[in-house]
Amino acid sequence: MTVSTEMNQTVAGTGDLLKKWTEAGRSYFQFQAENIPFRFAVSSAEYQKKSINYKGIIINILYQKNHFENVEHLLHNAKLTLDYCRQNFGPYPFKTITFAEISSFTRGFAATAYPSAIFMPEDMVFHANIHADRKQDVINELAGHELSHLWWGNSQISPDDREGSVMLTETLAMYTEMMLYKKMHGKKQMMERIQVHQQIYDNEKGLSENVPIYRATGDVPHISYSKGAVAMVKLSDLIGEEKVNTALKNFLRNNSYPKKPVSLDLLNEFYKVSPDQKTREQIDRLFKTTENKPLIHDVQKNSVAVQASVPIDSF
Ligand SMILES: [Zn+2]
Repeated sequence: MTVSTEMNQTVAGTGDLLKKWTEAGRSYFQFQAENIPFRFAVSSAEYQKKSINYKGIIINILYQKNHFENVEHLLHNAKLTLDYCRQNFGPYPFKTITFAEISSFTRGFAATAYPSAIFMPEDMVFHANIHADRKQDVINELAGHELSHLWWGNSQISPDDREGSVMLTETLAMYTEMMLYKKMHGKKQMMERIQVHQQIYDNEKGLSENVPIYRATGDVPHISYSKGAVAMVKLSDLIGEEKVNTALKNFLRNNSYPKKPVSLDLLNEFYKVSPDQKTREQIDRLFKTTENKPLIHDVQKNSVAVQASVPIDSF
């Protein structure tokens, strides 16, 4: 992708930046991305840039000059996510990762991950008062969720477009988000987020046909996101975080793009790390039925107010 823009602006594009130059009073940027399903996005603005080399990966943060207050926190969470995903799932597929601020006038957009670029709106991340709600760290959630998409769908994983595809995109991103929330804020706080997701699911589930996670579609995000997060955390209680991550690493290795995996391929990897029949039946109950037993032993049911503000991204 080659993009030209006004002389004083910087472009955030899809893939690694190969080169930039100026010509006839304009700035040019050239990007390349390999071995990924075709998707692209681009933004251009008079960005400020914070850039660091973290263990061989360049992390760029492009932000509006006045919106500097959360840059460090975002950077910190980007490092945490890179560490967790590289250690547990496999190598990061690009040389750089760029977080670019976009206008909050962009309607219906929470944040979206593209190959090596994550676009985030000013009002949710860059110019948000993250200290207003002590029960939610939206930057931690979004950084963990969005950056993890670079391992899952639709990046290294390109799910077959049928029922259950969102389990390979959103449910896996929600799981990673939760594990990173736990890393930064502790298990108790993570379980409070899970309780919020349980409530979102309970509120929404009567409004459309209730299907199990392995058959969910993008039309019912409360299943792939919220129930998916709850089920994955239950799974990590059942077999342990380490085994879940082993299964996910194997899933990625066996199904990466250009393969077209389905949700059953992921369930197969869960079965493989769960030797006994009883555990496999419990896994089926989580993902292949609409059973909805209350979980969560260590959080009181009324301790969390229902919030409608859990971000739903586009991918
Ligand atoms: Zn997502």
